[in-house]
Amino acid sequence: MSVNTNFPACRICNQTEWERIYSGPVRAGSFGDETEPTEVCCCKGCGIWQLSEDCTFNDDTYASEQYREAMGQGTEVADFFKAHDSYQPYNVKGVGKLNYRDAVVADVGCGAGSFLDHISGLAKKVIAIEPTPLYHDSLEERGYHVYPFTSDALNDERNRVDIVTSFQVIEHVSDPVIFLKELSELLVDDGRIVIATPNRGDILLKLITDEFMPFYFRSAHRWYFDKSSLTRCAENAGLVVESCDFIHTFDMSNTLSWLKDKAPKGNKRLAGILPQMDQLWTSFLQATEQADNIYITLKKK
Ligand SMILES: [Zn+2]
Repeated sequence: MSVNTNFPACRICNQTEWERIYSGPVRAGSFGDETEPTEVCCCKGCGIWQLSEDCTFNDDTYASEQYREAMGQGTEVADFFKAHDSYQPYNVKGVGKLNYRDAVVADVGCGAGSFLDHISGLAKKVIAIEPTPLYHDSLEERGYHVYPFTSDALNDERNRVDIVTSFQVIEHVSDPVIFLKELSELLVDDGRIVIATPNRGDILLKLITDEFMPFYFRSAHRWYFDKSSLTRCAENAGLVVESCDFIHTFDMSNTLSWLKDKAPKGNKRLAGILPQMDQLWTSFLQATEQADNIYITLKKK
């Protein structure tokens, strides 16, 4: 099998040596389609895992209707809410003890604003940064200050934002260090950034590595972080890690179904696996850094 891959110098640490982690097709779009064979490699400098450049999207893709459709999200505001509202309790938990009361807040890659709707009653000012024009009118109607990119928001809001959040975005961007640097330029001196991204310490990557990797890796995700590589990336952007938390968003039936079927089979609860088991399982994964998402809180030096 011939595989064309492209791994230039690491954008996070500038090292040029990579070690192959995975070779084969990855997920294309939401689920069901796969790419041509490609590779995921680990940077020997900072430990980030990256998908081969020739398989990834460029940043402009995220402004397109085609992207939302390919992700199975539809193109209407209501479609976005349907796909994302149920996820917001995890994000609210992930921002932890940060106080939104009377704060200036910005959510970067906010989509149609599901998270912002959950905290907007507390905030003094809400900034919605989202490349997709599909959602801009609706965000403005809800009173949010809308910008396509952080670089646009910086014209008005440099050093004015108390809390910047960005959920499930950093794994998509072409340069995560530049991305974080731009977010930090929005912040007031004692502001905080909360970043959430999939955790490659996810226990399923250890338990059924060969079966889970082609599902876990996907063309929309250029970068695969764990706590160590995310910390290194934030430090290279001139930021300090205040805390790092792990949140698991699936139940125990999901893990057991993967172990049983070695394939994604939806999220049905298995007979006999009661919510008490989910609580035990989730607590265990979160305490041992094997949950499916990392939430890292960052501040300026
Ligand atoms: Zn690196």
